[in-house]
Amino acid sequence: MKIDYENLKPEDLENEEVELEIDKDAFKGPLICKTCNKKMQNTVIDFDLPGKEVTLHLEAFKCTKCNKESLSGDQAEKFDKMLVLIDALKQKTKFKFERAANYDGKTWFVRFPNDLTKTWDKTMITDIIPITNKDFFIHIKNKKD
Ligand SMILES: [Zn+2]
Repeated sequence: MKIDYENLKPEDLENEEVELEIDKDAFKGPLICKTCNKKMQNTVIDFDLPGKEVTLHLEAFKCTKCNKESLSGDQAEKFDKMLVLIDALKQKTKFKFERAANYDGKTWFVRFPNDLTKTWDKTMITDIIPITNKDFFIHIKNKKD
């Protein structure tokens, strides 16, 4: 799931002093400021995430002339993932699948929706990472990896 940066709500980001432009076409950088046409300098942006329990450090680029800050593509991706994880922990994700917890007499299991598993094959295995006693992070990987 992709976060729509244009529609980020203020409650998603409490650090109001930082105005960020995410350059989706940029990767490792250095970036060129689109306004000043100047090479931007590396900088680090700290985000206090909602609740202030977590601060996210993002490597960014800053224009020395107009002070505009941009994220590189990989940092934008990291930011994207963090926002999705925070929403998930707060049970606020718009995109989710509710499934019964099934018991086969020995263990519990959950069925994945078919739409999510079209590219899976029988070599797939999962890492189940407990976050709390009610939250689990499931990572899918290939047995060969
Ligand atoms: Zn500039």
